Amino acid sequence: MAETHKTDFAIIGGGPAGLAAAAYASRAGLDTTILEALGPGGQLLIIDRIENYPGFGEGLSGFELAQKFETQASGFGAMIEYTEVTSIQKEGQKFLIDTASGTWEAKALLISTGATHRNLGVPGEKEYSGHGVSYCATCDGPFFRGKKILVVGGGDSAVQEALYLAGLTPTLTIIHRRNRFRAQQKIVDRLTSNSAISVRLSTTIKEIKGDGKHVTSVILQDTETGETTEEMFDAVFGFVGIIPQTGLAKQLGLELDSAGYIVTDQSMETSMPGVYAGGDVRSTPFRQVATACSDGAIAAHKAQQYIENLDGESYEDLSFQH
Ligand code: NAP
Repeated sequence: MAETHKTDFAIIGGGPAGLAAAAYASRAGLDTTILEALGPGGQLLIIDRIENYPGFGEGLSGFELAQKFETQASGFGAMIEYTEVTSIQKEGQKFLIDTASGTWEAKALLISTGATHRNLGVPGEKEYSGHGVSYCATCDGPFFRGKKILVVGGGDSAVQEALYLAGLTPTLTIIHRRNRFRAQQKIVDRLTSNSAISVRLSTTIKEIKGDGKHVTSVILQDTETGETTEEMFDAVFGFVGIIPQTGLAKQLGLELDSAGYIVTDQSMETSMPGVYAGGDVRSTPFRQVATACSDGAIAAHKAQQYIENLDGESYEDLSFQH
C-alpha cells in the first residue's frame, strides 16, 4: 500500500496565494506542503508584465515573480510536490488528500486552486483553439508577429495583454461589448494612446471562421446598430473573465457564492473549520497578486492558530504570571 505522507498544513495550488501562505506558514514553524499540478505561479505564469505588485514598480514578468515567491517559500522550508490532487476527505480532525502520487494527511488545508479562462462561446472557437484562437498572449503571441490580431474583452487581462500583443504587430484591434472598459484607467489610457491599437467599443464577436487549418476571419457585431461585418484576422485572443476551480471545494461541500467562488470569513476560513481558501478561487471584491498574497498570509496565520488549538498548544491557553 502507498505510504501516507504527514504534514501540518497542506496547500492545494501553488499560485501567489499558495506560495505566500507557504512562506508564512513554514517561517512560523508549520510543516507545510504545497501540492501543485503544474508549476509554481498559477495564472502569474501567463502574465507578461506586472507593475502593480508593491515594491516592483519598474515591473517584472509573472514568471520572475513566481520564481521569487517559490524561492522564498522553499527557503523557509516549505515542500512543493508536483502532483494532482484527486480528492479530499475529512476523517475525524484530519484531512486525507489523495493525489496521483500518494496520500497526504494534514491538520489544516488551504484551497488556492485559482481559476481558468472563460471561453468566448462562439462558433469556430473550439475548432480553431490552438490554430489562431488563444487565451495566453505570452504563450502564443510570438506566433502572430506582424499579423492581424483581435483581442476580445474589457477587463484588466484584455487591456494588459493587448498592450503586450501590440508590441508584436502594427495591426491589433480590441473589442469590448460595453461602451467603456472595466479595466483600471491607467492601462486603459495607455491602450487608447497606442497608435498600433484600434479600439472598438460596443462590439461583440459572433463567429470565428477559418480555412480548416487556421483562423482567417471573424464576424463582429455592433451592439448599438446590430450591424454585422466579416473582418480578416489571423488570431483571436480571448480574455473574457475567469472561472474558479472549485471541484475539490464542492467535494468537501464548502459554501460557494452565487458566482461559484468559495466563501470565507475574514480569517480566510471556509464554511468547514480547518479549511481555508485564498486567491482567485475565493469570493472577494478585488483579485490582484497583492490581494492573493494577503489572503495566503492571513490563511497561514489562522491555520497555525487552528493547529495549535488542535494540538492543545494554543497561545491563549498558556498561563502567565502578573
Ligand atoms: P474580468 O475583470 O472579469 O473581465 C472580463 C471582461 O470580459 C469584462 O469586461 C466582461 O464584460 C467581458 N466579458 C465577459 N464575458 C464575455 C463574453 N461572453 N463576451 C464578451 N465579453 C465578455 O476578467 P479578467 O480581466 O480576466 O480579470 C480577472 C481578475 O483578475 C479581475 O479581478 C482583474 O482585476 C484581475 N487582474 C488583475 C491584473 C493586475 O493586477 N495587473 C491583471 C489581470 C487581471 P463586462 O465588463 O461587460 O462584464
